[in-house]
Amino acid sequence: HAKKMGKNNYQFFNRAMNELAVERHTTEVELRRAINGNELLVYYQPKVDLVSGMATGAEALVRWNHPDKGMMLPDAFIPVAEDSGLIVAIGKIVLRQACGQAKAWHDQGLHSFTMAVNVSALEFRDRHFVESLRNVLDETGLDARFLQLELTESVLMRNVDSSIAVLRELKQLGVQLAIDDFGTGYSSLSYLNQFPIDVLKIDQSFVQSISSSVGNGVIVNAVIGMGTCLGQRVVAEGVETSAQLSFLHTHHCTEGQGYLFSAPVPADDFTRLLGQGVIGGSVPLQ
Ligand code: C2E
Ligand code: MG
Ligand code: MG
Ligand code: MG
Repeated sequence: HAKKMGKNNYQFFNRAMNELAVERHTTEVELRRAINGNELLVYYQPKVDLVSGMATGAEALVRWNHPDKGMMLPDAFIPVAEDSGLIVAIGKIVLRQACGQAKAWHDQGLHSFTMAVNVSALEFRDRHFVESLRNVLDETGLDARFLQLELTESVLMRNVDSSIAVLRELKQLGVQLAIDDFGTGYSSLSYLNQFPIDVLKIDQSFVQSISSSVGNGVIVNAVIGMGTCLGQRVVAEGVETSAQLSFLHTHHCTEGQGYLFSAPVPADDFTRLLGQGVIGGSVPLQ
C-alpha cells in the first residue's frame, strides 16, 4: 500500500512539475510575441522630495498588456524573462521608452527630472550593456545625469570585482546609480563603501512597519544615517500612510516613493498629475 501511495505522490509531483514547465514555456513564447508587438508598456511612479513635496523624478516599471490575461505585473513574467534571456530585450525597450519620456518631460520644463530604470543581473553582466546604454542616451537626447539605474544587492554581490568595474564605467558615462530593495539582500557593509553608489532605496518591507515595529524604525533610521554620512541620497520605498511619511520626514529621509503619492501610472496620467500639482506641493507634510 505504501509503495502505491509513494508512486501516486510521485506522479502527482511529476504532473505538477510538468504543468509548471508548460506554463513557463507558454509565457516565454507569448513574451517573445509581446516583445515584437507592442504589448509591453512602461508605467511611471513619482519619487517625491520629502521637504518640498515636489516630484524629483520617476521610476519606470514595466507592464504587459496581455491580450487574454489583461494587465500583468512584472512578478508574473520577469522571472521567465530572466531565465530565458528575454529580459535583455525587454530591458532595452523599457530603457528607450523611459529615456525618451524623460527627455519629453525635460522639454516640457521639468529641468532636473530624473528617470530611474531597473536593471537585472543578465543586463548588468551583458558585455554590450554600457554601449547600448550610450546608444539609447544618444538616440533619445537625454543627458546621462538624469538617468538613474537601480540595481539590487544580489546583482552587485555576485562578482564584486567585476561589479565595481562595471559601476565605474557607468559612472564615467555620467548616470546615477541606486541600490534597490536595500536591506533585503546580503551585501556586506565593507563593499557598500567601494561601490560608487548615489542613492540607497530602503526596501518597502522596512517602511511598511516603520512606526508599528520599533526595530524596523531603528533600521530605517540607521540606513538614513549611514547613507547620509556616505554622501548618498536615501529613498524610502512603499510609503502608503501619512504616519510613515511623518516618521521619514522627522528622520531626514530625502525622498519617498509609494501609493501615498501615486501608484505607477501611464505617461499621460503622470503628465496630468504633474499639471494638477497632485504630486508636487499638495502632499501633507508634518
Ligand atoms: P522595484 O524596483 O522594487 O519596484 C517597486 C515596486 O513596488 C513596484 O512593483 C511598485 O508598483 C511597488 N510599489 C510602489 N509603491 C508601493 C506602495 O506604496 N506599496 C506597495 N505595496 N507597493 C508599492 P511592480 O511594478 O509590480 O514591480 C515589481 C518589481 O519588478 C520591481 O521592484 C522590479 O524589481 C521589477 N521590475 C519592474 N519593472 C522592471 C523592468 O523594466 N526591468 C526589470 N529588470 N525589472 C523590473
Ligand atoms: Mg526599482
Ligand atoms: Mg525596490
Ligand atoms: Mg522589488
